[in-house]
Amino acid sequence: MNTTQKESSRDQKWLENRFLVLWKDYFSDIPMVSIKIRFGRNAYTRLGSIGYEKKTFGKSTMITMTGYFKRSEIPDYVIDATIAHEICHYAHGYFSPLPKLHRYPHQGSKVDDEMKKRGLVQILEKQKIWLKTNWKEYVKNDIRKRRPRRRRRGLSLIELLLGR
Ligand SMILES: [Zn+2]
Repeated sequence: MNTTQKESSRDQKWLENRFLVLWKDYFSDIPMVSIKIRFGRNAYTRLGSIGYEKKTFGKSTMITMTGYFKRSEIPDYVIDATIAHEICHYAHGYFSPLPKLHRYPHQGSKVDDEMKKRGLVQILEKQKIWLKTNWKEYVKNDIRKRRPRRRRRGLSLIELLLGR
């Protein structure tokens, strides 16, 4: 297996293509007004997020995927399910010109229900299993590196609670 070749294929163009294919196959009833997708930093708790693009002063929506997803060893369905999750938010009126369907973006299991309704149940289940089995192990070196900073913050919180 030529992993180098596979890795280099997970670029911006690849990401945009996955996004467009998913939209066409599962969200064609949702008007695509102005929305972009990109890779962000290597975030291990936020795999995907949606917001307004700062550069366009909120005229465009931006979906940001964790930079980890550039790595070829992460299965395509993990990325697809994450993209679809963010498109569901858009469809529900979050960071989009569409009417807001409910008060909180993750109210109940609104996003998962939407994915199931649209025939994305299989990739959703596969994504959950893969993440549950692999993600912690996959990012553990990065978590270890950042831990000291977090511990310091935790201590000062305890001090605050004790009134010191
Ligand atoms: Zn979400």
